[in-house]
Amino acid sequence: MKNDEVKKDYLRKIKKITKLNESYYDKSIPLISDGEYDILKKEIIFLEKKHDFLDHKDSPLKKVGFKPSKNFKKVDHKVPMLSLSNAFSEEDLINFEKKILNYLNQKKGFNIEYSAEPKIDGISASLIYKNKKFVTGLSRGDGQTGEDITANLKTIKDIPLNIFANDFPEEIDIRGEVFIQNSDFKKLKDKFANPRNAASGSLRQKNSNDTKKIPLKFIAYTFGFEKGMKITNQKDFLKKLSQWGFKTNHLNKIIVGTKNLIENYNQVEKKRSAIDFDIDGIVYKINDFQLQKRLGFVANAPRWAIAHKFSANSGISKILDIDIQIGRTGALTPVAKINSVNIGGVVVSNATLHNEDEINRKDIRIGDIVKVERAGDVIPHIISVDLKKRNKNSQKFLFPTKCPSCGSKTIKEFNLITKKKDAVRRCSSEGFECERVAIEKIKHFVSKEAFNIDGLGKKIVENFWNKNLIRLPQDIFNLDYSKIESMDGWGKQSVANLKYSIETSKNISFERFIYALGIRHIGFENAKLISRSLRSSENFLNLSKSNNFGELLNLDGMGETQINSIKNFFLNKTNQKVLDELMKILLIKNSVETKKNGPLKNKTFMLTGKLMGMSRAEAKSLIEQNSGSIISNVTKNLNYLITGDKPTKRKVDMAKDMNIKILSQGDWLKMLNKPS
Ligand code: AMP
Repeated sequence: MKNDEVKKDYLRKIKKITKLNESYYDKSIPLISDGEYDILKKEIIFLEKKHDFLDHKDSPLKKVGFKPSKNFKKVDHKVPMLSLSNAFSEEDLINFEKKILNYLNQKKGFNIEYSAEPKIDGISASLIYKNKKFVTGLSRGDGQTGEDITANLKTIKDIPLNIFANDFPEEIDIRGEVFIQNSDFKKLKDKFANPRNAASGSLRQKNSNDTKKIPLKFIAYTFGFEKGMKITNQKDFLKKLSQWGFKTNHLNKIIVGTKNLIENYNQVEKKRSAIDFDIDGIVYKINDFQLQKRLGFVANAPRWAIAHKFSANSGISKILDIDIQIGRTGALTPVAKINSVNIGGVVVSNATLHNEDEINRKDIRIGDIVKVERAGDVIPHIISVDLKKRNKNSQKFLFPTKCPSCGSKTIKEFNLITKKKDAVRRCSSEGFECERVAIEKIKHFVSKEAFNIDGLGKKIVENFWNKNLIRLPQDIFNLDYSKIESMDGWGKQSVANLKYSIETSKNISFERFIYALGIRHIGFENAKLISRSLRSSENFLNLSKSNNFGELLNLDGMGETQINSIKNFFLNKTNQKVLDELMKILLIKNSVETKKNGPLKNKTFMLTGKLMGMSRAEAKSLIEQNSGSIISNVTKNLNYLITGDKPTKRKVDMAKDMNIKILSQGDWLKMLNKPS
């Protein structure tokens, strides 16, 4: 990369991190996960180290937190409240110790004593005591200047307002972490992403009466300015803190040698999900204050301490139970209910176990201690079991041989392609006879790519089922609206909206209709193929009457498995009844022939933002009907980015960077010779 390109990339990253910081520190809203944030921070630091010419006042190596909010009075910290450098591996830790020994001019064998303290994932606060009275409490702010949040801090029971010990310094600011316990967070979890956000949001309320309602806790671990303190190391300081009336962390330990630090790190990580507050690593501080003083500080962090962070995409937890979920095709999916564990800022309490074979292969059991991984948007899953921690009386998990919903036998099918039994076990009842399968089928029927009924989401389908309002897809079009209006959470307007979405959904394209039926092995692509070939729903129904399924075999993408699945679908009496009823109610549009040489031939398109008077699905099929194709990422293969209202800025910026043509809805419709 050329230098100006490097600089451009660097500035883009700085701009991004500044925006993330503002939202995180000022508004208590995380825009990305902690793991993703750490990667961005690492990338910036890496670029700065590699290229001397890169430097910025907002660099994470220079900045701590974010400037104080206007809602609170600003107060300068007498001693700055700094950040900590991070270690992510054993190697980082060894380097940390090496650098310290070099700096102190000591040989390798010199034993350094560390105070190893679990890093509580909360919000730091500085409590100023004068003459044994708590006088002012500050947030970290940007490290130099904090916000005066005294009134809010005074609502926390763990913070003593008066100290009675004789040896308490004349003046001192005690620093520590404000946090919320996981058990208390459970009650607030609809409002906040994780316990730390809950603590941050509550602590920075304008009105301290709002803070008082939240059971915040405080654990003390260091000091800033002090006058008259006669303590020489961290161990004694922590001991004194509890004598003075502060809470300290019972997991703090004094440790010598990096090997022992790693052992302690592994042990604490295993305990992590059983501790009632979030920790995201272990802080190691040189125990001796004299050595701390000699080592001093780098730009925004002490040289004598480091935070050894836990992995941002995996964690250790315990399996409390194994639930069996049933999908719309009858597949039984085991899900592990685990002790909640915070993995990179996301609280995880469920992990998929995929299928019966996976449970057997890994011999996963209730009560096991397991390693759970969560990466990107993938559902958390279990990577391994700690067999050493297994209880002697634990028993192998027996996969149900009967469907937990309808009691039918569960079966493993023989796969014609792999010539093996499927890994997935299924409920043998075909379709609507099984309650769970029926509910899942209806959820699929109303979903976005199918009937796309706004206001009839998954929870509402469950609720309508429980209230006996729906049993089969056609019931959606015969709902008892007066009953719904009298139900909790519904009113005149929301019922009118629902009615409107249901009525408009009756007008549906043939391909969406086929997809909505939820026939196994017929996803959206196959539904499209069938609709283009058969053209009308009448032809589709005639397939079974004339037993003419063979004609579908000519379609590229349709094989024996798909054809058998369609045959079985028609053989089921309930399905026939559903089809007959739906045909009476719906207006299914015949499939339009796609132009082979349409005006958008050889052109690729991507959509972002809301289009006027047209759904995404309609826009996509319009492009395809005119020989264009849709792609889902901004890459060099993209020719046009169509932007509606409120487009995603990142996509537009990327398209601009890559010189991709950006079209408004009007520009695009002009290409099709359609009025905008
Ligand atoms: P960071 O903000 O990631 O650079 O990490 C520094 C922060 O770690 C401090 O501001 C504290 O909020 C937090 N922290 C949690 N526990 C401790 C501890 N025992 N010692 C020092 N800092 C801690």
